[in-house]
Amino acid sequence: MINLDKGSKVKLKIVDMTHEGKGVGRTEDGLAVFVDRALVGDTVEAEITKMKKNYAEASTVAIIERSEDRIESRCPVSQRCGGCDLQELKYEKQLEMKQKKVKDALSKLAKVDVVVEDIVHAENIENYRNKVNMHIGYDENVQIGYYERGSHNVVDTDSCNINSEVSKKVAAVAKTWLEQNKIDCVRHIVVRDSKKTGDTMVIIVSGTKKMPMIELLSDLLVEEIPEVKTVVQNINTKIGSGILGEKNRVVYGEGYIYDYVGNHKFKISPETFFQVNTEGMELLYSKVMDYAALNGSEYVYDIYCGIGTITLMLAEKAKMVYGVEYVEKSVANAVENAELNNISNVEFYAGRAENVMPDLYRDGKVADVVVIDPPRKGCEKRVLETVVKVEPKKIVYVSCNPSTMARDIAFLVENGYRAEKVQPVDMFPMSSHVEAVTLLVKA
Ligand code: SAH
Repeated sequence: MINLDKGSKVKLKIVDMTHEGKGVGRTEDGLAVFVDRALVGDTVEAEITKMKKNYAEASTVAIIERSEDRIESRCPVSQRCGGCDLQELKYEKQLEMKQKKVKDALSKLAKVDVVVEDIVHAENIENYRNKVNMHIGYDENVQIGYYERGSHNVVDTDSCNINSEVSKKVAAVAKTWLEQNKIDCVRHIVVRDSKKTGDTMVIIVSGTKKMPMIELLSDLLVEEIPEVKTVVQNINTKIGSGILGEKNRVVYGEGYIYDYVGNHKFKISPETFFQVNTEGMELLYSKVMDYAALNGSEYVYDIYCGIGTITLMLAEKAKMVYGVEYVEKSVANAVENAELNNISNVEFYAGRAENVMPDLYRDGKVADVVVIDPPRKGCEKRVLETVVKVEPKKIVYVSCNPSTMARDIAFLVENGYRAEKVQPVDMFPMSSHVEAVTLLVKA
């Protein structure tokens, strides 16, 4: 086995990219090296950071020859910041990479032969996020931003180009205030906004139950930034447990905001899931509707329905839609959202899909079409087994993780479905993440 010492430097020609956006080079001995921040076509000096069994990991020390696909970074901290991984890659090359990622997952992992349609690109590649999670670090100054790649050091910047404009205003006000008042219990600030209603929610995540003078910070945010309609304190005392803790306390306003997806209005609470790119979501869900091709007579399942975004769209074209979701607050929002939009042909079931689906099937709730939009880890086997028993004519599988999508599609193909077509959608410009919708029909 070839061994390279950690810290040693090698010159590499980058010949490919991994699905995570790293450059792939080979040493003279043929060892594959995955290089952070290197692009296909670059020649780089790389420093070995980790030696694995069959490959090495490295970081870029210097670019010796620039790839033709490389552009000047739009971001001053892109070399360090973990928020994005493709800031230096031309947008059309980002799209090519994501198209390939979806294609490879289906052909190599799922081993299914399926048409992958051309990726739908984003209309706006900057400032697209409707939800920004900012981490806070303290030394002599306060830092607000994303974590550095591979660490929990906060990269302070006031010019992030994927974050919403309003989140940058919030960051600036909060940073000065925290410094002036010497408050160091705020661990994160989450900003959720709607470009359509202009409403903004600020969630101040404190590591302590009480946060001194939070009302003053809240008043200042409301005064300085007119878009701020509500401020919520979230308490998260457990280190390493994700961004939001379990307890929310409304400090100002109603504790929720509204956004629109298409014509539907949605109530969004701090803890509920909502895709981070509203425009991208509309492109993605219109593809879901194309693939579902409903005529008004169908019974439909929407599994992993969140606050009912896809459910309500489906309901406009179906006879009846059953939504399944395990976050109670999301289900409560989904019920309200249906009422808010005068939609009554929907029923929501709270609980884990793997438990709820077998119960619904036992109760005879069949479906002509099943939409599945699981979290990154994909579906529990029991969900897929039940879907197969339900025998829908069509399954529309929406995913943010091509590998788990491929695994689940392979299962459905082995169990009586044919994968007809796949549509990748770029919801996350500058990052290597990609969404995809797959249409499966009963074989
Ligand atoms: N379709 C929705 C949400 C998709 S994200 C939308 O487009 O907005 C995935 C959703 O699955 C989240 O709302 C998450 O809370 C939910 N979820 C995750 N694991 C689950 C499980 N085991 N059972 C039911 N819901 C689950």
